[in-house]
Amino acid sequence: MGRKFFVGGNWKCNGTTEEVKKIVSTLNAAQVPSSDVVEVVVSPPFVFLPVVKSELRADFHVAAQNCWVKKGGAFTGEVSAEMLANLGVPWVILGHSERRALLNESNEFVGDKVAYALSQGLKVIACVGETLEQREAGSTMDVVAAQTKAIAERVSNWANVVLAYEPVWAIGTGKVATPAQAQEVHDGLRKWLQANTSTEVAASTRIIYGGSVNGANCKELAGQPDVDGFLVGGASLKPEFIDIIKAAE
Ligand code: PGA
Repeated sequence: MGRKFFVGGNWKCNGTTEEVKKIVSTLNAAQVPSSDVVEVVVSPPFVFLPVVKSELRADFHVAAQNCWVKKGGAFTGEVSAEMLANLGVPWVILGHSERRALLNESNEFVGDKVAYALSQGLKVIACVGETLEQREAGSTMDVVAAQTKAIAERVSNWANVVLAYEPVWAIGTGKVATPAQAQEVHDGLRKWLQANTSTEVAASTRIIYGGSVNGANCKELAGQPDVDGFLVGGASLKPEFIDIIKAAE
């Protein structure tokens, strides 16, 4: 199928310079499958992007955790896609559920951000996922389809997009989706892409899972046919992240 396994580490709002350097040296010393087999991207807070980028091994890459929705200017506190491109940051995470929930980022706003970041040459990890209430109400597929639709309406070239399915109830809770639950939604998302974009986009877009992934549960999840990798939060700050990278094999 040709979808290269993708493992992202979302460090969220964590770390000091010393801690960040320590994580980088652990990653640099790790024996992992080659970059032909797995693409590894770590996402430190903005302020640590330059140090991580300069010290990180060349076969791993960095991502920002957010960027502004359009060209920079009088937007106090924001960081633009142009700035990330200028720093040589290749990736950005957009639409993470913490930002959707805490900062009221709507589906449309996330879609606009994805389109703008792509237009500036960035690659995007675009996050979707349902809350527990939505799952219990049986609307999981409707929710993730609406989130994906807002992106698809604004984006025609999916080559630089990785779609991250992250059920909100699994993020930071230790309550990981079962392999069957993840596979069901990933399969649904791929079918949605098939129906609404193209056969090529559906076949080639990586759909990664996030939410309480750890060294113990990653292997079985990775064995699902439509799970093309992971977006890892808590465990990406620990040496265990290396075991998760190895799930690519
Ligand atoms: P978690 O976070 O692995 O700590 O659950 C995942 C994420 O928010 O991307």
